[in-house]
Amino acid sequence: MTTPAPIATVLLARPVPQAYDYLAGDADLAVGQVVRAPFGNSQALGVVTGFRDRPENPDVRLKAITEALTTPAVPNRTLDFVRWLAWYNQHPEGAVLKMALRGAEPAKRPRKTPIPEPNPDHPGRTLNPSQHSAAASLGQALDDHMFSTWLLDGVTGSGKTETYFAAIAHLLRRDPTAQVLVLTPEIALSGDVGARFADRFAAEPPLWHADIAEGRRKQIWQAVARNQARCVIGARSALFLPFQNLRLIIVDEEHDSSYKQEEGLTYHARDMAVARAHIEQAVCVLASATPSLESQWNAAASKYGHLRLGERAGGAQKPDLQLVDMRATPPDNGTFLAPPLRQAIAETLAKGEQSLLFLNRRGYAPLTLCRTCGHRLTAPGGENYLVEHKHTGRLVCHLTGFSMRKPKACPECGEETLVSVGPGVERIAEEAQETFPDARVEILSSDLSDTPKVVAARLKAMEAGEIDILVATQMAAKGHNFPNLTLVGVVDADLGLRGADLRAAERTFQVVNQVAGRAGRAEKPGRALIQTYDPDNTTMQTVIRQDREAFVRAELNERQALGLPPFGRLVAVVVSGKTLGQVEAAAETLARTAPQAAGFDLYGPAEPVHGRIRGVWRRRLLLRADLGKDVQGYLKAWRQSYRLPRSVTVQFDVDPQSFF
Ligand SMILES: [Zn+2]
Repeated sequence: MTTPAPIATVLLARPVPQAYDYLAGDADLAVGQVVRAPFGNSQALGVVTGFRDRPENPDVRLKAITEALTTPAVPNRTLDFVRWLAWYNQHPEGAVLKMALRGAEPAKRPRKTPIPEPNPDHPGRTLNPSQHSAAASLGQALDDHMFSTWLLDGVTGSGKTETYFAAIAHLLRRDPTAQVLVLTPEIALSGDVGARFADRFAAEPPLWHADIAEGRRKQIWQAVARNQARCVIGARSALFLPFQNLRLIIVDEEHDSSYKQEEGLTYHARDMAVARAHIEQAVCVLASATPSLESQWNAAASKYGHLRLGERAGGAQKPDLQLVDMRATPPDNGTFLAPPLRQAIAETLAKGEQSLLFLNRRGYAPLTLCRTCGHRLTAPGGENYLVEHKHTGRLVCHLTGFSMRKPKACPECGEETLVSVGPGVERIAEEAQETFPDARVEILSSDLSDTPKVVAARLKAMEAGEIDILVATQMAAKGHNFPNLTLVGVVDADLGLRGADLRAAERTFQVVNQVAGRAGRAEKPGRALIQTYDPDNTTMQTVIRQDREAFVRAELNERQALGLPPFGRLVAVVVSGKTLGQVEAAAETLARTAPQAAGFDLYGPAEPVHGRIRGVWRRRLLLRADLGKDVQGYLKAWRQSYRLPRSVTVQFDVDPQSFF
């Protein structure tokens, strides 16, 4: 094989907008070949995207490609996906390619043990009729060999995983080269799904996420590119792997907000999974017990197939849900568990069953306040309150990771009168332990100090019945199976509703519903007590009735009236910099230069919830567009119409999930 033309275009894995010309030299090159090429004063990894006989710009003296790596080529469709994602989210193509090349360099020491082949004929669980019919629909879609998206919609415990495993088994049997990607919203859950996969298919699947060791990362990348890994389970970055024959993408817990990458290279992994499936002409399955409003809307509009799993697997019953009115039955001073919830925990302990107390707030207390002068402890250069972590004795900023030892005295007035205000999971665990001294109380939290290993061990202990009361953040709302768990207490259901966020109600509905769904998954009936100061709130009422249809109707009506997603599109624009005056002036410039066009509205500039992070000032604008408008075209025109000082950064976030 010889290189077809003297000049190769190479897209570098650097924040560059397009491919550059290089002399091909003596190397045998093909489109997709991973190469190293000079870039400025250094060397950069890149991919050959094409060839030409003459340089694009004859005045530039071209440099030669340094070397062609002995690594498999990146498939065309993977490159198409990289370009599409860059265009949609308005990122430089090279920055997106960088994601796709993580693990592309050949391993120094290649691993001897290959990635084991999953066995589709290893016996799985028998499916109930509704699971069987959903799996059959997916099987048919896979046989059709065309792009389609399906919402796999079933209450917690209805057997969504078994159902999509059946579809995977069908595909692996039919097509000896087919590859499957299962996305999960976080690492702990990848491990959980991975273990169930290993049981079902008698083979440990490769797990892909930010924390895997470099050698393993390279091994997985190469195996995927050589079609020697048939199924990968991973977090959102697994979307960029160089699959040869990707036929099926599963997005587990598709409603989960952690699918949205919010910093740097912003993208929504669920939506990008649908896009990748489209490019690959593959089948995409979005699975959830509480699907996002967008997905429910797409299913209702017949854009997505809708598969409902009716019954709970194994005959388990729905939990009994009750609101605890915190005004009528308040907790004792300085405590956070109201009498009805304490009573329920006592009863559960007496039966030898497990309780889960849910609070979506890490640490011990969200605020440290001086009783003498009223000073509130914040991170330097920010306005964010520091969260107390008692087991480490530190105050932590959850936004930036800044931490310091908790001082004895107030840094403002010097008095030793600092008090912890409000509860985090650590404080709830302390209260539970004081109230029930003989109970085994543990915390499950995506804490800075908790490694995935610790989290996995704690989940295992809970499953094995070695914990009586588990106090947990949102992590516990996801997928895990605890057969002896029969009581769920939601410590503060109002927390989500206080967020400055258009999805606050949706998120509260999802979290409460999912956490409550943890109770009574096996044969034992479960109950959930939900503490709220606002029991008449629409969201609370629909949660209690488990009336998703009513909730969705109310929420969609509201969004339609405002032209918000899914009835319109949003783009958040964040301007940031070290000097407040410059940031404000830049935000004004952006507002002034935004193109005037029918169907587009611009709001702001406004001060976001976090107006200053790590000493950097921030201002936000919000663009709203009618459906069917060319949002990317609008953004492109806008970006060419202003000039800003280099000290100011502008970030566009297409389809933002939150507005902090
Ligand atoms: Zn003070």
